[in-house]
Amino acid sequence: MCSGRVDPEFLLRAFSKGMDGVFIGGCRLNECNYVTHGNYDALNMVLLCRKIMEHIGLNPERLRIEFMSSGEGILLAEVINDFVKKVETLGPLGKGEEIGEDELKSKLEEVTRLIPYIKIVKREKLASRLEKVEEYDRFFSSEEIDKLFREVISYHIDPDKCQACMICLRKCPVEAIIGGKNQIHVIDQEKCIKCGTCLEACPPRFDAVKEISGKPVPPPIPEEKRTIVRKSKKNEDLTSSAHF
Ligand code: SF4
Ligand code: SF4
Repeated sequence: MCSGRVDPEFLLRAFSKGMDGVFIGGCRLNECNYVTHGNYDALNMVLLCRKIMEHIGLNPERLRIEFMSSGEGILLAEVINDFVKKVETLGPLGKGEEIGEDELKSKLEEVTRLIPYIKIVKREKLASRLEKVEEYDRFFSSEEIDKLFREVISYHIDPDKCQACMICLRKCPVEAIIGGKNQIHVIDQEKCIKCGTCLEACPPRFDAVKEISGKPVPPPIPEEKRTIVRKSKKNEDLTSSAHF
């Protein structure tokens, strides 16, 4: 109902499903019926997404946003016709950019997985309101987005520090943490959306979750080495064997 609901994940999903172009129509800026002015959010999301498309080699012209009122039918027809012509000249998605089908699929999957992380990192910018059209192009720079992907943060649980309290496991929004009672926890990097919740949730006295940037994440501790033997348990075992 509101263009403010538009998320880069929706846009990238449309491209993943083979759309050659995506058009978003929003109400005129400053004419929103609600205090939220979601069309400004939609604009920022689109500008971000266009730079992400550029980053993976897709032509950003395949994504367009325009603002108009419900009384501007002629404008809508003109804009849509122009957009369709543009997309036709660009050709089918990927082919027009000389990116192979498999490569495109994996690139789209990779960036889509990082959208929640990107939205957290860029939250302040995404909440701002651009008043001038001239600001649109330079709002997100290509260098800024390339850097963002280059320095992407990962989270890792230090197996020597994890106390298997299960707090992070319960709080992870995407069930990316594998663990259980008396089991050293590990993060499934494929599922992790890099929200940082586990870092905040891990009690400071354990300090087991680490942020990693610019270097590979250590491999997960093998399953057979994840069981924690508590000191009290060890002592019990010693007492019972001494008894015998
Ligand atoms: S950063 Fe931590 S809490 Fe967030 S998705 Fe990854 S493992 Fe889960
Ligand atoms: S919150 Fe920290 S100590 Fe507790 S299970 Fe998670 S990583 Fe381990």
